[in-house]
Formats: sequence, structure tokens, C-alpha cells
Amino acid sequence: MKEYSVLLFYKYVDVENPEQFMTDHLEWCSANDIRGRVFIACEGINGTVSGRLESISRYKLNLKAYPEFEDIIFKEDEAEEHAFERIHVRVKKEIVNSSLSGTSLKNGGKRLSPEQLLEFYESGKDFIIVDARNWYESKIGHFKNAVTPPMKNFREWKNMVNGLKKYKDKTIVTYCTGGVRCEKASAYLVEQGFKDVYQLDGGIVTYTKKFPDTYWEGGVFVFDERRVVDPNTEQKLKYISNCYFCGEPTSYYINCHNQDCDKIIVSCHKCKVENEYCCSDACRKSGNKRDRYYG
Ligand SMILES: [Zn+2]
Ligand SMILES: [Zn+2]
Repeated sequence: MKEYSVLLFYKYVDVENPEQFMTDHLEWCSANDIRGRVFIACEGINGTVSGRLESISRYKLNLKAYPEFEDIIFKEDEAEEHAFERIHVRVKKEIVNSSLSGTSLKNGGKRLSPEQLLEFYESGKDFIIVDARNWYESKIGHFKNAVTPPMKNFREWKNMVNGLKKYKDKTIVTYCTGGVRCEKASAYLVEQGFKDVYQLDGGIVTYTKKFPDTYWEGGVFVFDERRVVDPNTEQKLKYISNCYFCGEPTSYYINCHNQDCDKIIVSCHKCKVENEYCCSDACRKSGNKRDRYYG
């Protein structure tokens, strides 16, 4: 049995004193060897943390003890070890940087359950499914037939929506990893006059746990040391991308270890090691390489 667990969670809710929360939470996490990233803002909380199973149980109780978080939903994955090296708890203006400060969450798309999305696919419904994540996330995995905007960063969503305007009168489903980005991404679509907008409730993580080997193709990009989670077992659904170096199917990726480059490239494990976690000979010779090899 695996001894660690990774939690993903968010909630948009009014938080009265983010600074106080940060101080208390950081202290609690340090004392209980909880590691990861937690962002707290006046608009809510967004986090992903790892810890030993018993610490994670206590973590959930600790967070739910705050009245504003008592109904927070945790997505949980067992793991062999910590998924982070240390704990960061930060006060932010937004829990996801979005450039959508004028967008009201009240306008968010209708919530679509994983069961309903499955039904959309199975019934042959005419709908457009849009990936609200960045290009490098959708490159290694996405829903079948998804529109994958070439977004470098979620702050570019507004610009991406111009390219989606041709679907204004269609049924649109947006999705992201756990749902936090879609609350705003889908609300912005509604505000822009899109007629029939849904957001996938619980995100990719919830869908793929319930229905692996169906309509999700490839790996799920995660922002921790696991880097990629492979939800599918069927070989033809496991990989949608190929190693940059040797062409073998893989979902794995590296950030080039030349810190001046930092380019994200898809690479299998073998080529990653052979190329010293770098994208090119020039980067391998750089004097500004990350010293630690991880992942
Ligand atoms: Zn390779
Ligand atoms: Zn490079």
C-alpha cells in the first residue's frame, strides 16, 4: 500500500483575513510535514499538497474546521512519496492568475458531471469541448476532439476566446485539471455571449478517475514532482505525443535544465537521462544549469 497522498482542492469563497490564514496554515503544515503549494486570497483558496496518509487525514480536518472551507472538495491520489520538496503558502490577489478580474463567477458555465460528459460523447451529441489549460498541458493529453488553444498562460484566455467565437451558438464544454480555471474561463464565455456553456465539474482529475480508458487521451499534466499522471491502461489511449529525441510514444516531459532556456519538451525517460535533462547540445553546455536532477 502506498503511504503518501496528494490532495488537489480549491474553493471560491470570501476569505476575511488571508494574511492570518497564511501564517497559521504555514505553521500547521510545517509541523505536520505537509508539503506543496497553497494560494489564499480574498476570493478563496487553491492548493495541492502531499503528505503521509495520516497527516493528510488530519490536514483535511484542519482545513474543514474553517467555516468557509467546511464543504471543500478534495481530489485525492495515493503516491509513493512526497510530490513536493517544501511547503509554500502565499497570499495572492487571485487564486489563479487570470486577467479576468471583471468576470463574475456567478456567470460560470453550467456544471457538467463526468457522467453527463460521458453521455455527451456516447450519444453523439453535437458539442465543442475546449481545453482551458496551457498548450504544454494539452500537448501530452486532452479529451477526444478537444479544441486546444495555444495558450502560454491562463492570462491569455481572453485573447483565445476570439478564436472560439465561431462556436458562439454551439454547446461548449470547458475543462481544466481540477476545475478552478474553468469557473472563470466559462464565466467569461457566458459574458461574451456564448449561448450554451458548461464547465466540467471536478475537472479532468475527477473524470479520469471515474471513467479511465474512455474519452481522455494521453497523460494528465500535474504541477508537482510527479509531472504526469497516466490514467489510462489501454495502450492506444495512453500516449498522444512522442519523444522529441527518439520519437517513441510518451507523455513524459522535461523543462530544459538550462535555466536560461527552460523550454518544455516531450521526452522519454531514456532520452531525458542521455541528454542530461537538456533540449540541445548548447543547453547541455550552459553554465546556468539546474544542479539537481529530479523526476
Ligand atoms: Zn526518447
Ligand atoms: Zn534548452
